[in-house]
Amino acid sequence: MRLTEDHDDFRKSVRHFVDTVVNPCADDWERDGAFPAHDVFPKAAEVGLLGIEYDPAYGGLGADHSYQMVACEELGRMASAGVSMAIGVQSMMATPSLAELGTHEQKVAFLAPAIAGEAVAAIAVTEPDTGSDVARLRTRARRDGGDWVVSGRKMFITNGAQADWVCLLARTSDEGGYRGISQIVVPTTTPGFTVSRTLDKLGNHASDTAEIVLEDVRVPVANTIGEVGRGFQQQMQQFVIERMSAAYTTVGQCDRALEQTRRFVAERSVFGTPLASKQYVAFRLAELQAKVDLLRSHNRETCEARMAREDITRMASVAKLTAGRLVREVADTCLQFHGGMGYVEETWTSRFYRDARLASIGGGADEVMLQVLARLDGLPA
Ligand SMILES: Cc1cc2nc3c(=O)[nH]c(=O)nc-3n(C[C@H](O)[C@H](O)[C@H](O)COP(=O)(O)OP(=O)(O)OC[C@H]3O[C@@H](n4cnc5c(N)ncnc54)[C@H](O)[C@@H]3O)c2cc1C
Repeated sequence: MRLTEDHDDFRKSVRHFVDTVVNPCADDWERDGAFPAHDVFPKAAEVGLLGIEYDPAYGGLGADHSYQMVACEELGRMASAGVSMAIGVQSMMATPSLAELGTHEQKVAFLAPAIAGEAVAAIAVTEPDTGSDVARLRTRARRDGGDWVVSGRKMFITNGAQADWVCLLARTSDEGGYRGISQIVVPTTTPGFTVSRTLDKLGNHASDTAEIVLEDVRVPVANTIGEVGRGFQQQMQQFVIERMSAAYTTVGQCDRALEQTRRFVAERSVFGTPLASKQYVAFRLAELQAKVDLLRSHNRETCEARMAREDITRMASVAKLTAGRLVREVADTCLQFHGGMGYVEETWTSRFYRDARLASIGGGADEVMLQVLARLDGLPA
């Protein structure tokens, strides 16, 4: 895939947003354990970041998927992975099903404010007892006339403490397994919806991660996205986009980390010569950049396939698995080459090392990607 001058211009505007709105505040937000999403999202919306592929009738840019890829690569260059993840949740995890399958009324009420950055959205799938095995979720929506009455718990919900609505996955029948599950938009002001706690994490400190309790939360059946009972399948499609968002973002994260480390090893002298002149150091950094280049190429091919409306389940699983492992390897090596200063909080490497660990767990663990791939290869995983 060849990118055009239009892509370059869009990339510059996203980089400007990252450099002027996010990076100057990143340290403060990391320390505070959250960033002010209601202040930052309208500024992200001005660049079009929250609705790149969505219908202009609801405030989207109406651009193709390649612009989403470019945006994610730039978001990966943020000094705070937590903010980049929060924007990713808003634009590529909580809203794709709504944009694809929602009714006009739902889009006016929930999608348009999310695209404008006026509403913060979250995706609520994981529960305390089940994450990887989505089909075992227990949150139950019981039908009562024109309403769902929802009870259950959701765990690790990004943006959860600040969200105005969540895209909730709940069981709407007793069929069991992946049958009888639905995606429902739940406004967080609905009585019975509470954030029971926010979680103190290893990394991604600027992003709030909530545990949510739902006790007899009453929402209209009209808030169901797409088809009642098809929520599992719809969520699997939404996951494919989420996984590509992680893989696109990883390229930006690794590019930035390797650029900064190349600059550092050129300046730092060890045993009388610049660190960069040691063949091991130079080769190691060159090899990691080559791996990032390969991921970038794979991402671009996947992006093209998605634009051609092909099934990208396999390509997205390869991308997510590769990205999760690669960003951890890059983070570990960059920290190592910075020596003792790499291990202290004032150097960017320590935050990057902590943040990178999530990539192999969130949005489908490495082993879940391997399970998908093994099954596609005909193995009985
Ligand atoms: C910071 C953060 C933000 C998150 N944000 C969200 C969010 O916004 N919304 C949301 O719904 N969820 C969110 N999650 C949840 C995340 O998607 C889950 O943590 C993840 O899917 C793993 O689920 P689990 O934690 O329940 O682990 P489990 O499912 O219990 O798995 C534990 C471990 O078992 C291994 N494993 C899993 N399956 C297999 C297998 N088939 N074969 C072999 N080994 C296996 C893996 O190593 C896995 O890490 C977030 C998590 C974190 C930490």
